[in-house]
Amino acid sequence: PLILGIESSCDETGVGVVRGTQLLTNTVSSSMDEHVRFGGVIPEIASRAHLEAFVPTLQAALAEADVSLEDVDAIAVTAGPGLSGALMVGVAAAKALAVATGKPLFAINHLVAHVGVGLIGRAPADGLPPALGALLVSGGHTEILRVVDIAGDVELLGSTIDDAAGEAYDKTARILGLGYPGGPAIDRVAADGDPKAIRFPRGLSQPKYMGTAEEPGPHRYDWSFSGLKTAVARSVEQYEAAGREVPVADIAASFQEAVVDVVTSKAVLACQEHGITDLLLGGGVAANRRLRELAQERCAAAGITLTVPPISLCTDNGAMVAALGAQLVRSGRSPSGIAFGTNPSLPVTSVVLPEV
Ligand code: ATP
Ligand code: MG
Ligand code: FE
Repeated sequence: PLILGIESSCDETGVGVVRGTQLLTNTVSSSMDEHVRFGGVIPEIASRAHLEAFVPTLQAALAEADVSLEDVDAIAVTAGPGLSGALMVGVAAAKALAVATGKPLFAINHLVAHVGVGLIGRAPADGLPPALGALLVSGGHTEILRVVDIAGDVELLGSTIDDAAGEAYDKTARILGLGYPGGPAIDRVAADGDPKAIRFPRGLSQPKYMGTAEEPGPHRYDWSFSGLKTAVARSVEQYEAAGREVPVADIAASFQEAVVDVVTSKAVLACQEHGITDLLLGGGVAANRRLRELAQERCAAAGITLTVPPISLCTDNGAMVAALGAQLVRSGRSPSGIAFGTNPSLPVTSVVLPEV
């Protein structure tokens, strides 16, 4: 099926088009530049930017894919989680298109789309591997999932109990004076640092949290990144108090190593203990070079086939929404109608927004 996907949950206005698992276009307009001086996304500014960017982004996407709205079989839109006002702009636009064209509309989960994007490029006849898992590392979430059916049955095996990995990157970058957004900045700076310079904490890795395979502890597959952020802040303070120059590259590299080490080790453990042999990586932090490298290395060692999306499909975009929409159509799921709202805190286990 030919699917149009619309994304507006944060600061990216995204319109993507897929035909089955084939990507036709991934057109993104970001209001990031307007938020930089505030050091974070300002919801009102993001909403207004979506309103201004939507039609030009849609037109550019249709032109690049060389399709018209009449050709499309269904429309998919992010209905949550995300910023309420930002979500509403994309959802309202998608409803308008659905009403005007008579096309079916699917209200989908942004988080499932982040990992479902890994299915782009697979031959449709392949179907989904039976023992499929997903590792979601984004600005607001860090989760390890068992994907029984991407079109409707996703189980949460573990998650962060405080900050998300992307949030940790952004907060740590601020502490190090690297500006916003922090993930790409740390990725860059860390390349010149020593990842072993400082041993930062790997949260929830102690035996009392981990337990054993037979008797799992309370947080065997969970993460915590708030202590790591505090450890970085304390380290910077110590250098400053001693009147020494802060080794920003070494701290960035050591921080990144702590995140990537604990994210990949716990994800691989969860896969091994749940018989998962096929893992999809997704979310903005999946753009991180060190994470891509270590995840690949550790999955290979554990006999897990890892799918790592191209970097342009890791951060927020419309193609991932279209890709999940295609899976819903393929599975014969009924469309959402047009009487649905948004859910800023939609859990990953709801692949589509429940009807109101
Ligand atoms: P969510 O998807 O959980 O709702 P979000 O949509 O805001 O949150 P994404 O767009 O998926 O998040 O990802 C943005 C996050 O990814 C930011 O925290 C950003 O710092 C991080 N990020 C982007 N590129 C990199 C990189 N190269 N290395 C590390 N982190 C990165
Ligand atoms: Mg963003
Ligand atoms: Fe996202």
